[in-house]
Amino acid sequence: MTRTAIVTGAARGIGAATAIRLAADGCAVAVLDLDEAACADTVQAITDAGGQALAVGADVSDAAAVAAAVDRIAAELGAPTILVNNAGIIRDNLLFKMTEDDWDLVLSVHLRGAFLMSRAVQKHQVDASWGRIVNLSSTSALGNRGQANYSAAKAGMQGLTKTLAIELGRYGVTANAIAPGFIVTDMTRATAERMGVGFDEFVEHMAKEVPVGRAGAPDDIAAAAAFFCSEEASFVSGQVLYVAGGPTA
Ligand code: NAP
Repeated sequence: MTRTAIVTGAARGIGAATAIRLAADGCAVAVLDLDEAACADTVQAITDAGGQALAVGADVSDAAAVAAAVDRIAAELGAPTILVNNAGIIRDNLLFKMTEDDWDLVLSVHLRGAFLMSRAVQKHQVDASWGRIVNLSSTSALGNRGQANYSAAKAGMQGLTKTLAIELGRYGVTANAIAPGFIVTDMTRATAERMGVGFDEFVEHMAKEVPVGRAGAPDDIAAAAAFFCSEEASFVSGQVLYVAGGPTA
């Protein structure tokens, strides 16, 4: 049976890798991002490999856009029963310099976005008596200098995950979170730029702190997401898996 999955923020980075992996595992995948045209490369990678994918443009923090996107996906790809809430942004700054807009925007994309997407998708999951929700948290949930907004959002994702697991479990729906450590993507490239360090130098520096001795790659996270989305993970719910190359505090 072909399941339909939605991966948000799937134009690049972790979302793209996860969309490609879920398609390789047999899902029809809605590649959702802010700009539909930006999803083309991910869709192409999936179709080139013989998979099925649909590019969908939507802002996950916009309730009307989310409702329309999920309706369109259900009509064009099939009722979505797998959801990976991956879309994200950073607006880092020390607390005394953080603006209200920086706070609101980060909370809105990560938390409101995951809430709106989960609410729209759960009706299809309940109808199917089966579903998987995977939320992207972060090691920053444990606290990280310059990320008051982001760490609050990522800790919030963990609470949301546990509540979704409790509410939706009776309908055959699991909800789990992945908390990545340092992963090489455009997001971490932007962090290096903001700090005024070359990206290669930044990656090398970060890798030294990781017990397995390397930075993470988007595929490392996609592999964890694929497990949570699998049929065999039906008894794993409400968990937070740190994927960081070592233990976390
Ligand atoms: P990325 O390369 O910056 O990709 C994020 C994607 O999300 C972008 O394509 C972005 O679109 C999209 N997006 C942003 N706001 C959106 C919105 N409102 N609606 C729909 N899509 C939106 O980031 P990444 O590194 O792959 O991170 C993916 C997730 O993992 C994020 O939730 C991030 O917080 C989390 N994470 C990453 C790391 C890491 O080290 N990279 C570590 C821990 C957790 P635009 O390009 O148009 O903005």
